Amino acid sequence: MSVVSIVRLGNDDVESAVRKAVALSQAFDSAEWGSSTILIKPNVVKPVRSGSGIVTDARLIEAVTKMVLERNPRSVVIGEGSSVGYDFPDRMDSMDSMEVAGVLEVARRCGVEVVDLNRDEQVEVKVPDAFVMDTFAVAKTTWEADVIISMPIIKTHPRTGITCGLKNMKGVLPGEEKKRTHRRGLDRAIVDLNRVVRPRITIVDGIVGAQGTNTDEADRVPLDLIVAGNDVVAVDAVCASVAGFDAREILHVQLAAEARLGTADLNLIEVRGEQIEAVRHPFIPYLQAAQHLYGGANIIEKDACTGCMGELVSTFVYLKRAGFSDKLANLTLIMGNPGKVPSLCEAPVVVGRCAQEYRHLGVFVPGCPPHGTKITDGVCEALRIDQETVHRSIVELHSL
Ligand code: SF4
Repeated sequence: MSVVSIVRLGNDDVESAVRKAVALSQAFDSAEWGSSTILIKPNVVKPVRSGSGIVTDARLIEAVTKMVLERNPRSVVIGEGSSVGYDFPDRMDSMDSMEVAGVLEVARRCGVEVVDLNRDEQVEVKVPDAFVMDTFAVAKTTWEADVIISMPIIKTHPRTGITCGLKNMKGVLPGEEKKRTHRRGLDRAIVDLNRVVRPRITIVDGIVGAQGTNTDEADRVPLDLIVAGNDVVAVDAVCASVAGFDAREILHVQLAAEARLGTADLNLIEVRGEQIEAVRHPFIPYLQAAQHLYGGANIIEKDACTGCMGELVSTFVYLKRAGFSDKLANLTLIMGNPGKVPSLCEAPVVVGRCAQEYRHLGVFVPGCPPHGTKITDGVCEALRIDQETVHRSIVELHSL
């Protein structure tokens, strides 16, 4: 049975709380510390301050670094490769992000090296039994680490519902590889990545998370928690549930369990410390917060998971960028398994394998999930929008 600990900070300082979380979960017991090279991998996607709910809290990174150093490993580095858009060679890069987030200061105080994983030497790695990514170019520091300690933060995400431990590993990929995961299908690519680069220990910053579109102060969610464990899938399932999501509807978490990377079934996870129900704090889902993007489109769905819903967001973004958002009020989409569909004036776009029984009603876009560009093509066909104009706009957007 997988073990995950949840510790509330309460009156404790961050270091005391993380020591408690690690002790309860016994997460550090799995490592041979003395002979190991350790990579501490926080989530620092962009240059924002610690405590914002967007990047891993610097106090937590410092506490974990100290705990690791106490075990006298062969070497310790802190490494991160910030998101695409924060990886320019001559201006904003991961080091700038880590400076703003307080990570460089932590490293200076603890005397450990910091690596920009976007600029690290790359190693080509084959992925056995891959869903969509047969190979990855991975930062060498990551590939050579004996123990990866992943330190994600709980946030909502447009494509994957939530982002936590499994998705945090994307930071070990250089920019072009990060983009490739989106082109191939993000949920499955995340699972493929975790097949070859799997954290041994996951310690989640649940002090403050981020909900909705993660854009302003109102999106910060103070949870006051630390979550820890060895099974990253179990940790993500627990964190999804703490944030009010049903882990069974978070596609990449379910696919990771299917790929036998860990346990996503809460009945098979031993939660130590605080119990999920006692600390649950429902986050506003990204898709709910982003409804203004839908432009009045009629979405008929039930049980559509984050795979299709996330890809659909791309379609709205593409059409908006191409100047067709006024057409969306005429659009009907069918997704998931909605049961009885009312009679419709316009032919709907039927999205994804789950909805295929409705394919005779309109334009069917197959896939699980179909890529956002394919959904966009289907919408263009249904609304008689010029596909070439939209394609040009997509190319422009992705070359920014
Ligand atoms: S087809 Fe079904 S299972 Fe696949 S991504 Fe879409 S809603 Fe999820």
